[in-house]
Amino acid sequence: MRTLGLIGGMSWVSTAHYYRLLNELVAQRLGGLHSARVLLESVDFAEIEARKLDGDWDAVAHRLAGAGRRLEAAGADALVLCTNTMHYVAAAIEDAVDIPFLHIADTTAQAVAGAGLSRVGLLATAFTMEQTFYVSRFASYGVEVVTPDADDRREVSRIIYDELCHNVVRDESRALYRDVVGRMEGVQGVILGCTEVELLIGADDVPVPVFPTTLLHAQAAVDFALA
Ligand code: GLU
Repeated sequence: MRTLGLIGGMSWVSTAHYYRLLNELVAQRLGGLHSARVLLESVDFAEIEARKLDGDWDAVAHRLAGAGRRLEAAGADALVLCTNTMHYVAAAIEDAVDIPFLHIADTTAQAVAGAGLSRVGLLATAFTMEQTFYVSRFASYGVEVVTPDADDRREVSRIIYDELCHNVVRDESRALYRDVVGRMEGVQGVILGCTEVELLIGADDVPVPVFPTTLLHAQAAVDFALA
């Protein structure tokens, strides 16, 4: 089995979910007491967020690329960046290492395209919904991504940072996310494009297929680890 290098802590809540999923998936595939070979560098998220809010993306890239290099030096065979939003600096991390970087948008876009869908909604942080780095990646798989309107984007993002990143899961917030999905017209599915969102809503909450990015990313990582 190959070793996965996780860049985590953004937030710790979703990184804990990654850790559980990676181990459950390896145990399912190999049976017995098998579990995932994992190295983790977990950041202080407040430091990263402060740089992000300052617009100092060079500092974010430097910090996360350093984590990637340390994981590679410690023996990781591939990198898993456990957040969609921070894939904004994916290229800098990829450039810093010689091991594969498993891009979360690629694994998700492959699942959407593989399901035969071409127009899907996105629930994510405001940054991920409003910048092009994430949505444009789906275009190269022939998938059009629809985002909620400005008020809905603000609320979806507020719930991520004020609740889910603190491990707070509220029924009212689940109801709001359901309503937001209902307001995105003509979508054939929904990308849960923030690694905490699948802790709030799932397949039973909306009338269209969901694409949980943490699960899909973890599955791709386990495929790599066991290949
Ligand atoms: N975990 C979230 C994501 O997948 C948000 C945290 C962040 O800003 O990195 O985008």
